[in-house]
Amino acid sequence: MNLFTMPVSEIKGIGGKREELLNKIGINSVYDLLYYFPLRYRDRSEMRDIAALYDGCECCIKCRAVTKVRTMRIKSGLTISVCRVCDDSGEINVVWYNNKFIDKQIVRGDEYVMFAKAVKGKNGLELRAPVTEKADRAGKTTGRIVPVYRLPEGIPQKVFGDAVREALLLADKLMVSMLPEVAQKDFMKIVPALSQMHFPENEELLYSARNRITFEEFFFFFAVLSEIRGSDGRENGNIFKDTDTAFFEKRIGFELTDAQKKVVCDIKKDVVSGKSMRRLIQGDVGSGKTIVSVFALACAVKNGYQGAIMAPTEILARQHYETVSKLLPEYKTVLLTSSVTGKNKISVLESIKSDADIIIGTHSLIEDNVIFKKLGLVVADEQHRFGVRQRQKLIEKGENPHLLVMTATPIPRTLSLVMYGDLDVSVIDSLPPGRKKIKTFLLDYSYRQRAYGFAQKTVEEGGQVYVVCPLVEQSETVNAKNAEELASELQLKLSGVKVGLLHGKMKDAEKNEVMDAFKSGETDILVSTTVVEVGVDVPNASLMIIENAERFGLSQLHQLRGRVGRGSAESYCVLFADTKNPDTIARLKVIEKSTDGFYISEQDLQQRGPGDFIGTRQHGIPALKTADLTSDTKLMYKAKEIFESIKKGELEITENEHKKIEFMINRTEKLENYGNILN
Ligand code: ADP
Ligand code: MG
Repeated sequence: MNLFTMPVSEIKGIGGKREELLNKIGINSVYDLLYYFPLRYRDRSEMRDIAALYDGCECCIKCRAVTKVRTMRIKSGLTISVCRVCDDSGEINVVWYNNKFIDKQIVRGDEYVMFAKAVKGKNGLELRAPVTEKADRAGKTTGRIVPVYRLPEGIPQKVFGDAVREALLLADKLMVSMLPEVAQKDFMKIVPALSQMHFPENEELLYSARNRITFEEFFFFFAVLSEIRGSDGRENGNIFKDTDTAFFEKRIGFELTDAQKKVVCDIKKDVVSGKSMRRLIQGDVGSGKTIVSVFALACAVKNGYQGAIMAPTEILARQHYETVSKLLPEYKTVLLTSSVTGKNKISVLESIKSDADIIIGTHSLIEDNVIFKKLGLVVADEQHRFGVRQRQKLIEKGENPHLLVMTATPIPRTLSLVMYGDLDVSVIDSLPPGRKKIKTFLLDYSYRQRAYGFAQKTVEEGGQVYVVCPLVEQSETVNAKNAEELASELQLKLSGVKVGLLHGKMKDAEKNEVMDAFKSGETDILVSTTVVEVGVDVPNASLMIIENAERFGLSQLHQLRGRVGRGSAESYCVLFADTKNPDTIARLKVIEKSTDGFYISEQDLQQRGPGDFIGTRQHGIPALKTADLTSDTKLMYKAKEIFESIKKGELEITENEHKKIEFMINRTEKLENYGNILN
């Protein structure tokens, strides 16, 4: 048995319910456990003499209990326990609140290490509710840098820490480096690196350990990327000789912005070049990417090819279907999503094989039974929602088709280098004319009634409103508003207003109905979870209220906000935040102040790390968990360079080392969702 196959239940104290909980956060094997790193650390390494403590000082003391613990009952059941402790330099009171067991834990005359903040109380300086260890067994939670993990309820930090300690003992015997020797030679060895990641001796060692782990992440990231992309036959691209699109331009109804014209021009150049187009269109929400893709589709069909758009949601696919059908009525456009079933599905599949010109759909398009007659162009919309694997699968259904990927998530440059290294990039950097800036307000919940009053007024004046709630898992003990509750509450409170509800657990057909009702103006307010985030276009909506905004990433908020401000009306976005945390508020202020998606995404990347952009969940995904793309660029380039040298054979590695890389590629690819982080 090796660490990859050894179930985490082999570890003492982990079994049954706890094992289940760990499995849920992606920890199945001992290896997974070792690679589940702390979210942050607490520095409890500083030791001080009691005499050197001062108000507000956070540190450890090594002390002896001078008195027994005395417990006093004050009002309404509250108890205070006090013990006097000393060291060679002086004495201090230690205070606990409502701790029934403390008098059993602290014994007069015994020695302890305590970590707490010293606070000035009524009777002078005191330590409040310290983290305490017996002096002869100290060193796990005091006197050192202590890891803090992101853990589900039911797994205490201590239990997890102990489990990791045991896993590290196993690692000592069983862990092998998955990196080839030539790649790891400048770095800390794997076992000490893991050990320092969890229980750092000091910041310097933690830094070196992090470098090792981050490098390793990048290295295998590039390995998987290279494996997935393979060689994609760019050299023999189809040529779309006829790129005259005048026949439909007059139907568009508006003039393209200069930025859009430029991208259309880029595309037309690509498709006649003889190489397959590989172009990323990056444009902020509402910048008008869809229309640009219609130009590409028109060119494909004109030259005897089929064109396909793959969108991440059914709602979006249908929206594109409507747009394209309207603009290109002379072509046969079909829609394939998971709610197209039975006879309909058979006839759509038949059509894709024979007479369909344009095929629009969701992930359904990459199913095996979808066979194209002559697929010459693939458009992947909201690309960050797909994996490269999925994109590649669709590409493989054609003969070297051209590829256009569109994303609204403005991606910082370093990240796009990693994720889109092989794509040419066009940017739509301006919005269509006449758009007004969306006025954004960050409020606390004391404004709730006023906001809903404003929603009512908006509706009375003919507008429509989105109310967005975060996804709340039932197990969570938070006050975050649940979409369902909120919808019924609003329906009750706001007279004469029709409220719709949309959430991720609905069937696609249901979602369509709800969305149609909102689009047609039948419902006035749409309460939803983040399913509206992507691409939805209802120009009449002019107000968006976001509940518990603190639970969203900045880029996500920006995307959400982009659903309004698409029509001519003055538009508003209200962010409700249920937090007093100054960092969180500072973060949300970025959205309040700026509407520049690029600026916001840079801020987001700095503040939260890249998880948000690449769609990683907090679990189950092995790649780039520790890497920070704003500060680890050097490691990234180094990993890329070394991986490529190995691949080209410039750096030699052993057969066994090759096998290890292959193993890591297979392993990572198998993990669910992995595809989503590689774009
Ligand atoms: P996104 O880039 O977010 O996908 P869409 O393609 O959905 O944006 O476009 C948003 C809205 O802007 C649509 O209603 C579209 O018709 C409109 N639009 C796009 N380009 C222009 C333009 N040049 N002038 C006016 N409106 C435009
Ligand atoms: Mg779009």
